[in-house]
Formats: sequence, structure tokens, C-alpha cells
Amino acid sequence: MTPIEPQSSSRNDRADCTGRPSVYLTFDDGPTPLCTPDVLDVLAAHRVPATFCVIGAYAASHPRLIRRMIGEGHEVANHTMTHPDLSRCESAETQYEILAASRVIEMICPQASLRHVRAPYGAWTEQALTVSASAGLAPLHWSVDPRDWYRPGVDAIVNGVLAAAQPDAVILLHDGCPPEELGLAAPAGRRDQTVKALSHLIPALHARGFAIRALPQSH
Ligand SMILES: [Zn+2]
Repeated sequence: MTPIEPQSSSRNDRADCTGRPSVYLTFDDGPTPLCTPDVLDVLAAHRVPATFCVIGAYAASHPRLIRRMIGEGHEVANHTMTHPDLSRCESAETQYEILAASRVIEMICPQASLRHVRAPYGAWTEQALTVSASAGLAPLHWSVDPRDWYRPGVDAIVNGVLAAAQPDAVILLHDGCPPEELGLAAPAGRRDQTVKALSHLIPALHARGFAIRALPQSH
């Protein structure tokens, strides 16, 4: 695979010389060997960067996928160690969840240069923000959620994103599912609709004049 070249140059430039507005792809709840390689293949085929908000425990189980993300020019972000709702965590637990995930990712891939954290379920707390800041991590939320985790159908995912996409949109997709959902009936863990939707979505976003870029520093 060839690393995606425009990433580093685009990080500080929202609009490049083409003037096209940026949108950002983010994938949560992986890595998983069932889906992450397919997502990476689609991104590589279209040569676009993404940010993977990974669960630390999964990263520890699949370090090769983390190295592949970084090697192919994507950003890896902290999505806590075990994906708890941080609003229900004691302060020591919040600290462990965020700091341990960073340690795991950095151990697997020292060049990962972590800069973002995303709270599971978007449930931010003052404590989580404080711990994140002390670890040098900026909070990363999203602005477009096509609810791909709900398996609404490929068209619904694509149309949901296209209907809501605006300049600087942060698009939320999933390449895995959190530990608490792994025991549920079969389809919950499968992200085949997300992979198919992605292969339609990237050209559709390009056709609408958007450039899919790596997240800038301010996110
Ligand atoms: Zn999540």
C-alpha cells in the first residue's frame, strides 16, 4: 500500500489551492479483523485519509491493524481502553481509561503521535476533558452521524451523510462495535454496510466538491 501523501500538507490548511471545502472521515470502535482491513482497502483505493478512534483493548489484540493505519497515512485517536460511558465513571477509572489507551497505542506504534480523544457515546465530562488535556489530547466530536451502527442499509448511510455534509463536517462511521455489544445477536458486530457505503460515499463527496482531508490541528 502506498501512504497517502497529501495528509501532512493538508493538516494546517483547511482549503488547499483547489479551494475545495474539507470533510473528515472518522471510524470508531475498532480495530477488528472483521471490518477494519476492508475499510482500509477502500480508503487506499480512493487515496483518502481518515481518523480511527480505536478502543485500547482491541488495539492491544490487533496491533498490526494499528501499524497499518499509521503506515497508510491515517490518524489513530484514543477512544478509551474499554469503551465505558465516562459520565458513569469515577475519576480514577476515567483516568485509567484514557491514559491506558494512549499507552497501548504508543507502545504499538511510537510514531502514532496521538492528538485526539473521542469519548464513548460522546459523553464528555469535566473530568474526562481535564485528563485528556493533561495527556495532550484534544476532544474530537462529530457533526454528521448516519447511524451506520444501526445497519439502516447502504443507501440510508450514504444519503444520511450527503444530506448533512457541510464544509468541515466530521463524519462518524464505525469499523467495529464496542465490547458491550459483542454478545448481542449476530449483525451487531458486522459493518459490511459501512464498507459498501464508504465505497459510494467517497466519490459522492468528491462529486459534490468536497475534499476528504486529515483533521487539522484545531479539531
Ligand atoms: Zn464508540
